[in-house]
Amino acid sequence: MLDDAIQAQLKAYLERLQRPIELVASLDDSANSQQMHTLLTQVAALSDKVSLRTDGDNPRRPSFGVAQPGDAPRIHFAGLPMGHEFTSLVLALLQTGGHPPKVEQAVIDQIKALPGSFKFETFISLSCHNCPDVVQALNLMAVLNPGVTSTMIDGALFQDEVNARQIMAVPTVYLNDAKFGQGRMTVEEVLAQVDTGASARAAAEISQKAPFDVLVVGGGPAGAAAAIYAARKGIRTGVLAERFGGQVMDTLGIENFISVKETEGPKLAMALEQHVKAYDVDVMNLQRAAKLIPASEAGGLIEVQLDNGATLKSRSVILATGARWREMNVPGEKDYKAKGVCFCPHCDGPLFKGKRVAVIG
Ligand SMILES: Cc1cc2nc3c(=O)[nH]c(=O)nc-3n(C[C@H](O)[C@H](O)[C@H](O)COP(=O)(O)OP(=O)(O)OC[C@H]3O[C@@H](n4cnc5c(N)ncnc54)[C@H](O)[C@@H]3O)c2cc1C
Repeated sequence: MLDDAIQAQLKAYLERLQRPIELVASLDDSANSQQMHTLLTQVAALSDKVSLRTDGDNPRRPSFGVAQPGDAPRIHFAGLPMGHEFTSLVLALLQTGGHPPKVEQAVIDQIKALPGSFKFETFISLSCHNCPDVVQALNLMAVLNPGVTSTMIDGALFQDEVNARQIMAVPTVYLNDAKFGQGRMTVEEVLAQVDTGASARAAAEISQKAPFDVLVVGGGPAGAAAAIYAARKGIRTGVLAERFGGQVMDTLGIENFISVKETEGPKLAMALEQHVKAYDVDVMNLQRAAKLIPASEAGGLIEVQLDNGATLKSRSVILATGARWREMNVPGEKDYKAKGVCFCPHCDGPLFKGKRVAVIG
């Protein structure tokens, strides 16, 4: 299942485990179960800190959980986490084994403090490049908070569930059996939705901010460039972004960024963020501007009102709000989004195998 090179690489990663972990498999007689057993046996053989049990009682078969010995697994993989999901498996192993995650301490603290029970189920396809980020965000929450479980479900393997829940786009996330979200989501975005106090806390914090010289609305490449140019002049600069990174977060291969032969969208977005944060720029991510009130009406400074009720003031505002998926404005389009109307052929394509499709554009 895993070739020699991958095994050698994984073995090196597993040396970072700080405590034992257990793989708990729930299998049946199917060929997929055999493949999963082979994979898990190979993984367990790569480190004396990894053990394998095959007496799991998860009704989804084949599936396996990752846990510390003695604990019930909170991370589950229903399907083989190969393809784009292999990284999700590696991170689940490492983080369950005590390897520190690469996220800000404030995010870790927010996850740990989250009260309640959260059962996340993420339907994916192995060819979807947006899915692993969602799986990894939810897995991280499950590692850090005992009230959270996260299950990756390969839609191709659990077709009955896909049909019963009428899932027609991946990733699709369910929380406590109700539809939670669809599409790429960062851990911060998930937290903003489930941590009910977070929005009010953010609004209070943002409203306290002193006026900016330049406030950029939009955190894509254009907004990032504008912020860097402004901050380099030594003026007070802020960036307000619904989703920092913008559209490049939705793509993988970028080959026309001159001087960089090829890169990937999320990598470019991370580089943009690091570049912006190298300057004194106040980045307010996951915040949506709802209304702009010109200086003439607001009494001196321009006001930007946010969805969460907060207001920011600035001497100048740069709007770099980019673009969105182009819609056709035909009846039913909005209602059927992610239920048959999709925007990512290579992510969602596998769910339409054998079905009649129309391609527009
Ligand atoms: C799948 C895909 C593949 C692509 N591949 C390539 C490629 O290979 N090469 C290439 O050159 N280009 C590619 N593009 C296009 C490229 O991503 C865009 O041209 C570029 O991102 C535009 O940058 P931008 O900063 O103007 O806007 P965007 O990237 O659209 O960013 C807009 C920003 O504004 C924010 N925003 C919007 N409304 C609000 C609001 N009300 N309040 C707060 N924030 C708001 C958004 O959250 C986002 O941060 C691709 C795009 C997609 C979707």
